[in-house]
Amino acid sequence: MRNTDVVVVGAGPTGLTLGASLIDKGMDVVVLDKNPEGANTSRAAVVHARTLEVLRDLGVARELVTRGVVVPSFTLRDRDRTLLSLDFSDLPTPYPFTLMVPQSTTEEVLLNRLRELGGKVQRPTEVVGLDQDADGVTVHTTDEGGTTSIRARYLIGADGMHSAVRGLAGIGFTGSAYEQSFVLADVRMGWALPADEVQLFFSPAGLVVVAPLPGDRHRIVATLDHAPEHPELPDIQRLLDTRGPVTDPARVDEVVWSSRFRVHHRLASRYRTGRVFLAGDAAHVHSPAGGQGMNTGIQDAVELATLLHTGAEARYESIRRPVAAGVLSMTDRMTRAATTHSPLVRTLRNTTLRTLSHVPPFRHTLAMTLSELSTRR
Ligand SMILES: Cc1cc2nc3c(=O)[nH]c(=O)nc-3n(C[C@H](O)[C@H](O)[C@H](O)COP(=O)(O)OP(=O)(O)OC[C@H]3O[C@@H](n4cnc5c(N)ncnc54)[C@H](O)[C@@H]3O)c2cc1C
Repeated sequence: MRNTDVVVVGAGPTGLTLGASLIDKGMDVVVLDKNPEGANTSRAAVVHARTLEVLRDLGVARELVTRGVVVPSFTLRDRDRTLLSLDFSDLPTPYPFTLMVPQSTTEEVLLNRLRELGGKVQRPTEVVGLDQDADGVTVHTTDEGGTTSIRARYLIGADGMHSAVRGLAGIGFTGSAYEQSFVLADVRMGWALPADEVQLFFSPAGLVVVAPLPGDRHRIVATLDHAPEHPELPDIQRLLDTRGPVTDPARVDEVVWSSRFRVHHRLASRYRTGRVFLAGDAAHVHSPAGGQGMNTGIQDAVELATLLHTGAEARYESIRRPVAAGVLSMTDRMTRAATTHSPLVRTLRNTTLRTLSHVPPFRHTLAMTLSELSTRR
C-alpha cells in the first residue's frame, strides 16, 4: 500500500491550491480526482484581493493578474441611476482591485504551479471509502485498474458540494436551496458603461450583474424563477433589456458560454473529524452574490496547508468555519435584498443605499468585506 503525508480528494481550485501549497512546504501529497479531465468551463470569474495575497507566496498571483482583467470599481445601480459606488483602488493591499478571470484559467494556473513543484493529479480515481485510526487514514479508491488503498497521515476532502469525504466521515451539511436559479453567461456585446467596473443592477424585474472578462467578453449573472438550462442570446438580451440600463442599452452579439445553476446555502457541521478535514465547497456553499465561493475555498486551502505544516491543524476549524459562516450570512442578505419582490422593501433598500453611499466608512467597510481583506488575521 502506498504511504503519503496527505491525500487531497478533488482537483478543483481548492484541491489544486492545497496540493501545490503542501508540496511547496515539503510534504508528500497525493491529489486525486474522479473525473478523467479537469472542468474546462468559466464558472467562478471573480478573484478577490485577499485571494491574490494568499496566492502570492505560492508564486501564482502575478500570472493570474496577467491573465485577467483588473477592475478597480464596483457600482450598484437601479436601471440608469447609480445608488452606490465603491472604489477598491485605495484598499490597503498590493492588489487594490477585483480580478475578473474565468475559473478554467485559475485552475490552469494552479495546475501548472502544482506540476512545476513536482506534483500531479491522479485521475480518474474516485474515493469510495475511508478508515481512520490514531496514526492515520486508509483511503479506498477505485480507478480503471480496480480498487486500491492509500495510507496517509491526513485526508482532505476538497471534493465539492456533494463531497464523498464529508459523507464518509459522517459530517452533516445543513442549510437549504434558494428558490430562484442563477443564470450565468459569458457574452460578447456592445456596452456603453465603463469597462473598469463591475456593475450590479437592481430593477423591479430582478437582478443582473455585468462584469468585464478577458478577450473582450462580459460575464452576465442574473436570478430567474424559471431559468432555461442553457440560456441563449435572446434570453440574455431580454434580461439586460428588462433589468439593465435604459438610456444606453446593451446589444448582445454572441453567447460564448452559458449555464443555469441552483444555489444552496449550506455549512458543514464540522471542518474536521480526527485526521479528516474539509475545505472549499465540501465545507460551505452559498449564493454567488459577491463572488465569494471559490475565493473562500482557496483561502481555506492555504490556511490548512500552513496549519498542517506547522502542526497547528487543531486550529483550522476555529479559524475558517466562522469565516464561511460570515460569508453565508452576508451573501444571503445580499441575495435577499437584491431579489425582493416587495416594492416597499425595494424603495427602502434603494434609499438606504443612496444615503450610505455618502458615508466613507461604510463604503470602506463594504469594500474590505467584498475583497475578503477583512478576514486577514
Ligand atoms: C455553473 C457554475 C457557476 C458558478 N459560478 C460561480 C460564480 O460566479 N462565483 C463563485 O464564487 N462561484 C461560482 N461557482 C462555484 C464555484 O465554481 C465553486 O465554489 C468552486 O468550484 C469550488 O471549488 P472546489 O475546488 O472547492 O470544488 P469543485 O470545483 O467542485 O471541485 C471538486 C472536485 O472534486 C472531484 N470529486 C468529487 N467527488 C470525488 C470523489 N469521490 N473522488 C475523487 N474526486 C472527487 C470533482 O471531480 C471535482 O473536480 C459556480 C459553480 C458552477 C457549477
